[in-house]
Amino acid sequence: MTRSAHQGAGSAIIAGAGIGGLAAALALRDIGVASTLVEKRTALNETGAGIQLSPNASRVLFALGLGPALMRQAVEPEAVRIRALRGGAELSRLELGETMRQRYGAPYLVIARSDLHTIMLDALRARTSVRILAGRTASAAGNHGEQARLTIANASGQQEDLLADLVIGADGVWSRIRESLGGGAPRYRGYHAWRAVIPASELPPHVRVTETGLWLGGGQHLVHYGVAGGRALNVVAVIPSREALPDWSHEADPAVLMNAFSRADMRARDLLAAGRDWRIHALHDAPPPPRWSDGRVALLGDAAHPVLPFLAQGGALAIEDAAALAALLGEAAVAGMAPARALEMYGAARRARTMKVQQQARGNGRIYHMRAPLSFARNFAMRRLGGAGVLARYDWLYGWQAPQAVRGDAAAG
Ligand SMILES: Cc1cc2nc3c(=O)[nH]c(=O)nc-3n(C[C@H](O)[C@H](O)[C@H](O)COP(=O)(O)OP(=O)(O)OC[C@H]3O[C@@H](n4cnc5c(N)ncnc54)[C@H](O)[C@@H]3O)c2cc1C
Repeated sequence: MTRSAHQGAGSAIIAGAGIGGLAAALALRDIGVASTLVEKRTALNETGAGIQLSPNASRVLFALGLGPALMRQAVEPEAVRIRALRGGAELSRLELGETMRQRYGAPYLVIARSDLHTIMLDALRARTSVRILAGRTASAAGNHGEQARLTIANASGQQEDLLADLVIGADGVWSRIRESLGGGAPRYRGYHAWRAVIPASELPPHVRVTETGLWLGGGQHLVHYGVAGGRALNVVAVIPSREALPDWSHEADPAVLMNAFSRADMRARDLLAAGRDWRIHALHDAPPPPRWSDGRVALLGDAAHPVLPFLAQGGALAIEDAAALAALLGEAAVAGMAPARALEMYGAARRARTMKVQQQARGNGRIYHMRAPLSFARNFAMRRLGGAGVLARYDWLYGWQAPQAVRGDAAAG
């Protein structure tokens, strides 16, 4: 069966209602494109883990009108404190808070994924132009005359073709739409990320939810930051592993983690010991697809460029993609340009930046896990650069501006 996803001037079908798919629907809404979101999960919820929203991402979300809701749920950390796991010495302290706002014009926030998801969904549902088809799996996309086609199936395997002006593949690292565009399979990168959320009342006394912590070890690292308005701490511990688990969120035995951190500073070990319900995520990225778009079909977010989380940028890039996509489509419509050409321009605009982030994230993995004696040089360089020096190296990343059409007023407050 084939049916039109939406009637009207502009319509899009978005495969995947993750951060990227929701951001795309919000950004497209602002240029008058009505979206149908197709999501394979039946419940549109997110796991309890957190996400860091650097200014390049928060700027876009504020421009989309989510600022007040974000500021109610997020934590705006004062600083990132970087320490050595062995011995606990401070290597650097990067000021966030007001420093980030002044330097980049938007805040550095940390938030529970479930809260971010709810905020985005609420904003979408406030408009009637968005339709959500949950419990449907997208299997392929292609072009169909002057339209784009997405093939979906429900839980009993019943297939259906949806048609719209555009199809956006925002179906994450294991994207089926990337396959449709000839992109390769994800590659396991040899790390397991262990994640837990610890209620603030159960934290060791030395841990502050208003500060982000980054601990670097020889073969492992640890990140933590406040979520849920400071009522909990999100903890991510990364260790090497040969086991390429296929998907998100595997249950885990904390004894394995404590063993991997057996030589870490007691404060880091106390924090890990407070974690319950650890979940493991095997970390993948993927080679860039040969093309980001084919006619009226395009990729967005992890589907286009899965990145390791060591720069905390995968979600941020997905949000940037959404802003860039809407801006270029909006400009193309005004100029009378074909949507397929706008999608080509979008891919061309995003490719170099996303590849740079992908490479730097891999590089950070090597730096974070350096063993002695290389770690001595790393620690020396970090101390010498100081927090401001480290931050200055990220101006190209955090200073990203959405193309004019969707920039709006990002004055965060
Ligand atoms: C440990 C860890 C920490 C991270 N920390 C950060 C951070 O601090 N900051 C940051 O910016 N990023 C971070 N990231 C990266 C970030 O989580 C991802 O880059 C981001 O979720 C990508 O968003 P997305 O919408 O492209 O994909 P996803 O979030 O994966 O969403 C894809 C959606 O598509 C659905 N889907 C999948 N296949 C289909 C299908 N065939 N049909 C229909 N629906 C489908 C999925 O159910 C899902 O809802 C981290 C990642 C990890 C693993």
